[in-house]
Amino acid sequence: MSADIQATLRSPKGYEVARRALEVMQANQVWPTARNFELWVHYISEGKSPLAEEIDRLLAAGEPITESVGEALAAHYLPEARLNGGILEAGDVLSKELQSVTRAIESAQKSSEEYGQELATASERLGGDHAGPVKAVVANLANATRKVQGENAVLESQLAETTAELSRLRESLDQVRRDAMTDGLTNLTNRKAFDERLAEICEQADAGGEPVTLAIIDIDHFKGFNDAWGHQIGDQVLRYVASVIGRLGAAPRLAARYGGEEFAIIFPAENGRMAMTVLEEIRVEISSRALKRRSTNEDLGTVTVSAGYAERLGGESTVSLVERADAALYASKHAGRNRTSAAPPLAAVAAA
Ligand code: GH3
Ligand code: MG
Ligand code: MG
Repeated sequence: MSADIQATLRSPKGYEVARRALEVMQANQVWPTARNFELWVHYISEGKSPLAEEIDRLLAAGEPITESVGEALAAHYLPEARLNGGILEAGDVLSKELQSVTRAIESAQKSSEEYGQELATASERLGGDHAGPVKAVVANLANATRKVQGENAVLESQLAETTAELSRLRESLDQVRRDAMTDGLTNLTNRKAFDERLAEICEQADAGGEPVTLAIIDIDHFKGFNDAWGHQIGDQVLRYVASVIGRLGAAPRLAARYGGEEFAIIFPAENGRMAMTVLEEIRVEISSRALKRRSTNEDLGTVTVSAGYAERLGGESTVSLVERADAALYASKHAGRNRTSAAPPLAAVAAA
């Protein structure tokens, strides 16, 4: 704080100058640093000066008067002697106390708690009649900064609210997206999402030069099962079959309900031999499970599934891949059901 500024602040018009400086700083959202406060006291007390003109120009241009802009202005417009003179004056109690106030303001930007304590200490230390105007300045600084802090707190809580609102929104959007991709009865990926994912996975496989294997699984004689036990129990069995397929076809594989009692599994980066092992595990597990009617514990017998799979040939279309997997499934049905078959190579299909 320079000597002439201290003189200004201690003079009868000190309070008025400080108050107006703070008002202008607040109005223009100038950072409440010691340097900026000093600049604004000059601005108010000197009337038309090169410094005031430059500040007016910056304000008109909408430039924020940040700490570094304030530093640059002070370095340019306030001569070194005027800047440091007062601070170096030993024994000037007011100067020191003002320093602690301004330091407090600077630290306010870092820690509002620290600031409150420092300001309180500074305020307490200011005593004696001669300190009247300075006390007023301190009170104003406290008010101004408290207001800024209050606004910060409001902004923070608004920000927190907005963030929470956004994450709620994101969650419900995710839920809607999940629902749109999920089959309601089995909780597996639905047909629409399956088609999309198959196309994506095939594209990625082409890019990475990796295999993809596609399997289609169909419940054997399911019409007869429904006829015997009713659609409701049929649905329960469908859910059971889906749960086995979903467990063994879990990510990075993709298990889907392809149609009524038909399922599909995409095996990214897995060849036919690997898929065969999984499909056999699924088939054996389902066929060996003695099904019971939940309500009455009545014996429902067993159901079996047939599966067919095709290992994708480089660049093969999804349509062709599905057709070959389907042909393999048909081969399993034709051969007596409850079995897993591999699709013949594309050349053999074409030749047939
Ligand atoms: P195949 O061994 O040749 O596959 O014989 P299938 O009886 O399973 O084949 P078909 O295509 O003739 O019949 C499929 C049956 O699956 C018809 C229908 O009763 C049953 N189904 C399809 N979707 C559902 C469903 O959502 N719930 C129930 N309970 N049954 C379904
Ligand atoms: Mg069937
Ligand atoms: Mg079928």
